[in-house]
Order: sequence, then structure tokens, then C-alpha cells
Amino acid sequence: MAETALCRYHCPNCQAELEQEGYIAINVQDEKPMEALLAGTINLTTCTACEAQYLLPIPLVYHNGERELLIIYVPDLVQLSPEELNQLIEYPYSLTVTQEIARLGIVLPEPSLPQGEEYQTKHPTTRFASLTQEEAITLLPGYLLRPTIVDGLQVLVAVAQAVYDGMSTQEVLDDMVRLQLINKILNANDPLVRRKVLHHSETYLNEPLNEVIQTLQEQMGLEGNAEMVDKLQWVQGEIERYKKSQQERLKKPTLEH
Ligand SMILES: [Zn+2]
Repeated sequence: MAETALCRYHCPNCQAELEQEGYIAINVQDEKPMEALLAGTINLTTCTACEAQYLLPIPLVYHNGERELLIIYVPDLVQLSPEELNQLIEYPYSLTVTQEIARLGIVLPEPSLPQGEEYQTKHPTTRFASLTQEEAITLLPGYLLRPTIVDGLQVLVAVAQAVYDGMSTQEVLDDMVRLQLINKILNANDPLVRRKVLHHSETYLNEPLNEVIQTLQEQMGLEGNAEMVDKLQWVQGEIERYKKSQQERLKKPTLEH
């Protein structure tokens, strides 16, 4: 079942103080929010004061139990400490896991807390939150304990579309790594940082990555986003440059002792 929350924030354009309801957790069975996700309009809002359009600054959990996919979009991810990230996603994450536990019919042990049954009814995530790490690993499907965090909502949209198109879970997860890698390269303005990003992802610098970049370019072209088409071209160029420099290095003769 989808979960919404009231979001209080300042318009990034005119700083007006606003309140708006937005989705923080959706399941693949939730028809209305899934339609909005696929259309890329989920949590998109318009400022009542200046009419600027932007995305609500809240996290969004996407869950597909059949395909064992649990992905969380977190806005401004790079600026958050691990504690801040935990705090931000704890509620929608625990709620999603608790709902799936109920759907699967898994019974969790009664937490040894002073709070009674009434408290647990009001706070449905208590049982999951009270599990030790060992209990969680033993009782729950592994993917529920390892959500994928993404920092671009477009990655989530692409995932939802890929699942909808019938891609396998592994293919979806691999493509997600590629999309995140493209995002990282785009955001790495410093050549040294970029080199590090590429170095850590060497196994992904292959034909399937080129295909994802090409598909994105076609998509952006159709949407008339020429700037993004150019940026993706630049990403492609940087990858080629990196691969060439690695090949050059391998060709250099090694020093003989
Ligand atoms: Zn505004």
C-alpha cells in the first residue's frame, strides 16, 4: 500500500514556505502512483506563489516483492551523513519491509519492550525495528535488508519502466549500476575524481554501458533536451579516453630486473 507524507519546505525558486502531500513509499501494485512514476510526474509539484515546477524534496521507496527489488530515491544524497540518511529513510523503509513481511506471512518475535500491544498497533514497524541483525538475516529475504539507494529519480523511473517491459531482476540491477555510473561521471567535474569513478567501475566500461548511453541519448533527443544529449556525448568521450589511457599503460614495457 502506498504511503504519503506531508512535506513542509521552501520553494527553491522564490523561497515561499509551502506544504504539499507527496509519496514516500510505493508498491508496484499501487496503480495511481505507479502510473505517475512511469510518466515521470510523481512528486512533481508547482509552487503556488511563483509557479515554478520541481520535485518535492522527499525520499521515495519503490518496492516490487515479486521481483525482489527494493530501491530508494534520496534527494541530495551526497550531502547527507550516514546518520542523516538513516533518519530520512527509516520510516518509509521500515514500513515497506513490515508490509512485505505481513504479505509473506512471516511472523516476527515479540519485541522485549515495555510497550504493549496497543503501542505496536499504532507503530506497526516496531517488530521489524526490534530485530537483531542476526534475526533479520535468518528470517527475511536478503534483498529487503540491502535496499539500493539512488540519487536520481530518473534512475527509479528507468527501473520501473524496465520491469514493466519485462526485463529480469538481474538485468534491471545491472542497468541501474550503469545509470548510476553515468550520473556519477556527469557529476564528477574534477578530472581526478572522474578518474577514480571510472577506475572503480572498470568492469562496467563495456558495450552494454554504451548501449545505455545511446538509449538515453535517443530518449533525451526525443524530449528535445539537447543539453543532455551533449552531456551524454561528453560522458561517452571520457569513457573512451580513460580506456585508451589504460591500454597505453598496459602497452608500456615493464622494467626488467
Ligand atoms: Zn516559488
